[in-house]
Amino acid sequence: MELDKHSRDAGDRQPHRRQQPVNAGYAPISDYISERKATLIMLDAYRDFLFQDIYEFASLVEGCVVDPLTFIELGIEDDTSLIERLLKPHKLTLLHEYIFTMIRVWQSQDYRNNPDYYMDAAPERLRQIFEEYRLPLTVFPADEAHEDSYVFYKWFQENQESFFQYWEQVTDEVFHIVFANRRFLQRFGLSLAEYLTSELSDGSEARKMIGRRICRPGRYPMWLKTAVFHRDHGRCVFCMCDLSGLISTDRRVHLDHIVPLNRGGSNDPSNFQLLCEACNLEKSDRSSRAGRLYIPWWGY
Ligand SMILES: [Zn+2]
Repeated sequence: MELDKHSRDAGDRQPHRRQQPVNAGYAPISDYISERKATLIMLDAYRDFLFQDIYEFASLVEGCVVDPLTFIELGIEDDTSLIERLLKPHKLTLLHEYIFTMIRVWQSQDYRNNPDYYMDAAPERLRQIFEEYRLPLTVFPADEAHEDSYVFYKWFQENQESFFQYWEQVTDEVFHIVFANRRFLQRFGLSLAEYLTSELSDGSEARKMIGRRICRPGRYPMWLKTAVFHRDHGRCVFCMCDLSGLISTDRRVHLDHIVPLNRGGSNDPSNFQLLCEACNLEKSDRSSRAGRLYIPWWGY
């Protein structure tokens, strides 16, 4: 609706603007972007995602998440800032930390263990990717590589700072994709729950802070409610009833913990889904069911 309004306004303001080719159909994108939106872009409200190679990383993270022991790599046990994220929703979620850590650990290990595999094509490929992400990278010493395969790993270590920035950006992009997948979020929540209930050592800081169970926050932050509402398209993810208020006046929206708190679930933003009141009451606090219904872009 907003786009229509802006396009009409833009048209009204510029009655004599250059005629578009008949088949183009749409006005230039600059006509749709209001001044306010342009300001928001400047304020970094939008992300210029490149989605370069990120399905490979998303697949890596999906493979890791089935194993609760992978959570050991995060070092939650004695890191109070990470434990805080289990207790209360934070914008930089535990899922962000998990994605970043899995990519960092996997790529570092792979580069160390198989430097000869990467030394031919990878430097040029990485040069292109880093250029797109606007990150500095030193020139790869190709001549030395023929005598010493570890040159690749040394080059990687020399550029670690840039790789950290690269992993951070890739983490944002992978998060954007996997956060839309409730089946993935359910697996993540279940593995995390198993790690927290079975693997934490008794004397650890995490064990002390979490205690017997994590409590429901008094109120949920608006950014979290808005994000879950939009991700789930304003519908109950079990019965698909409309919760937007546009079609029905019944708007008793519930933010449901996919993995219940008394089953080791957390208050990390990755552990929420949108339910109507009836479905939420029906889902017992022993069920970790995640809504798997989606509306396809079109029917077949
Ligand atoms: Zn429902």
